[in-house]
Amino acid sequence: MGKEKTWRKMILKIIKHPDTFLRQGSHAIKEVGDNERKLIADMLETMYDANGIGLAAIQVGYNRRMCVLDTSPSKNNPIVMINPILKDKSVETLEMEEGCLSTPGKVGIVKRHLRIKVNYKCEHEKEYEKTFYDLYAQVIQHELDHMEGKLCIN
Ligand code: ZN
Repeated sequence: MGKEKTWRKMILKIIKHPDTFLRQGSHAIKEVGDNERKLIADMLETMYDANGIGLAAIQVGYNRRMCVLDTSPSKNNPIVMINPILKDKSVETLEMEEGCLSTPGKVGIVKRHLRIKVNYKCEHEKEYEKTFYDLYAQVIQHELDHMEGKLCIN
């Protein structure tokens, strides 16, 4: 047994529209500790269980600027974003039909940039600045909206 802590992963309850909890802004995370890493593991478990491709902390009851996403068909390529900041975006946008784990059975039409550059930290507090395209860019913009209390439906 190593020193690495292992937790029993939990599937969290996803807060659904029209719960007003979803409409608040999220706060930046100051320090990434065991609590945050446990939450990230549980958020990934919850997202995969619900067949989602993205989940923001606000959706499981934590108004913190954190999200997980995985658009890979194999569902084994997760990206964790802590305190993501949009640094750049393409002029080109596209209107997309979008669903959300918090709005089951409902889709919204939203305008998304085709390319974005994001600065963020991972769960090991490593800092990244990366450019994302297409579906990745769309999901990240969706999660950034959650952090501002915005949903893809009105
Ligand atoms: Zn959503």
